[in-house]
Amino acid sequence: VRAAWGEALDLPAYMATEGRMAAALKKIGFDYVFDTNFSADLTIMEEGNEFLERMTHADQYSWPMFTSCCPAWVDLLEKYHHDMIPHFSTCKSPQSMVGAMAKTYYAEKMGIDPAKIRVVSVMPCTAKKWEIVRSEDMRSSGFQDVDVSITTRELARMIKQAGIDFRKLHDEEADSPLGEYSGAATIFGATGGVMTAALRTAYFYITGEELGNLDFKEIDGLEGIKACEVDIKGTKVRIAVAHGIGNVEQVLDKVRAARENGEEVPYHFIEVMACRGGCIAGGGQPRVMMPDQPKPRGITDDIRKKRARGLFDEDLNAKNRLSHHNESIKTLYAEYLGKAGSEKAHELLHTHYVPRGLYKK
Ligand code: SF4
Repeated sequence: VRAAWGEALDLPAYMATEGRMAAALKKIGFDYVFDTNFSADLTIMEEGNEFLERMTHADQYSWPMFTSCCPAWVDLLEKYHHDMIPHFSTCKSPQSMVGAMAKTYYAEKMGIDPAKIRVVSVMPCTAKKWEIVRSEDMRSSGFQDVDVSITTRELARMIKQAGIDFRKLHDEEADSPLGEYSGAATIFGATGGVMTAALRTAYFYITGEELGNLDFKEIDGLEGIKACEVDIKGTKVRIAVAHGIGNVEQVLDKVRAARENGEEVPYHFIEVMACRGGCIAGGGQPRVMMPDQPKPRGITDDIRKKRARGLFDEDLNAKNRLSHHNESIKTLYAEYLGKAGSEKAHELLHTHYVPRGLYKK
């Protein structure tokens, strides 16, 4: 959302800050504004821990592990790829995690009755509207964790309809403690970003040391399927990043073919995003004029690259580029969740998948 919301309001990049977005939301009437990047860091803590668990206790059948933060990918899995269900991370997406935390941890901390909280999330995505009611797990707080999910374009429309002179707004910080985030969280929105963020923290979990080089150039960019090998203290971890559903299918076919031939699967860890380029190009993002179309209809690769660059630059310039160094996340675990993968973390931050479709490959 942060990469594109200004486009929908014709704001120049230097004015389209997340601080101005927070100020606009407060002006519209929201009491608290959080940053989904906070819960992207939380997702990484849980997903990194899952990866560690698989590495520690794994046999060859535990691999690969798939990321799970894209609801369109979750939907596809539950309908068409039932054999891959055991390979899915059980982590909820950042949207669902922040909703659960707002109505439990934050509500308790602030002494607010969760029944009186309405959580509205702003997402780049139309599949996120479905995600908030996907299963009973989306009511982990005892209420629907996220009440309404609106898109970036809908946010822009709301700001315009509210008659806010958004150019005159001053930056406002997101509310603490669900507002702090790392550079790793920022890059979630671009293809390769979730994997990069996860590897930074997984490396720390596994070795107790920080990665020397925090960037993985091999999985940057718009190539449909990207892959590389990461050396984690002598263990070669094979990773892949697929975006665009057609590319996902190719990766799944490769995994199945290896299994059928009794070979090691080609990848240990796979990031999947349904949209080409990732969430920066989601179905709820601002659109641009395409050739032969009477009104804005699509997103070009130039726009995808520009939005992704914005996120990766923000990460490069961030004071903290690691999810596990987010101080508010550390406090959340110390005060409330215990540790990553704890029973409470599973109750609130994880989900499970069920075969839904009629067709099984
Ligand atoms: Fe939504 Fe697309 Fe992002 Fe998936 S990749 S979460 S469908 S915007």
